[in-house]
Amino acid sequence: MPGTDIAAQLTAAEALCARNGTQLTALRREVLDLILRAPAPVTAYQLLDQLKSTRKSAVPPTIYRALDFLIENRLVHRIERLNAFVPCAEADHEHADAQFLICRQCGAVAEIEDHGVSAALAAAAAAHGFTPGRAIVELDGLCATCAPPEKATLQAHR
Ligand SMILES: [Zn+2]
Ligand SMILES: [Zn+2]
Repeated sequence: MPGTDIAAQLTAAEALCARNGTQLTALRREVLDLILRAPAPVTAYQLLDQLKSTRKSAVPPTIYRALDFLIENRLVHRIERLNAFVPCAEADHEHADAQFLICRQCGAVAEIEDHGVSAALAAAAAAHGFTPGRAIVELDGLCATCAPPEKATLQAHR
């Protein structure tokens, strides 16, 4: 991802926090910047390691508090399966309702926002008298780059 894109995303994040009545402090901004620059989902400890190069006093709670803030402000998602973090790919959407495609080969994560998926889940849950809360779907498999060509062709014809 080009650097100018990240600068624009950080500026947008600042504006979003201001709208939420919160503040993207220097530390929170730095953590978000690291997550935006990462080619794949990053763990809290990887973030801590990187942060320590500029902030020697950084400890795990420093990172966890910043991550909580970024999640709360809908800037970052936690991928439960990987226990790692990715930037939100959609603008300020409902984070209780998101789908992630996780490549088990290269580790790439793509966020898709398909309301049909959550509607189907909600309907299936309702049929069981179940009231759904968060509907985060983490699908593992192979991304378009890693999938064997014949399989990719097959899927394209479906
Ligand atoms: Zn998102
Ligand atoms: Zn892949």
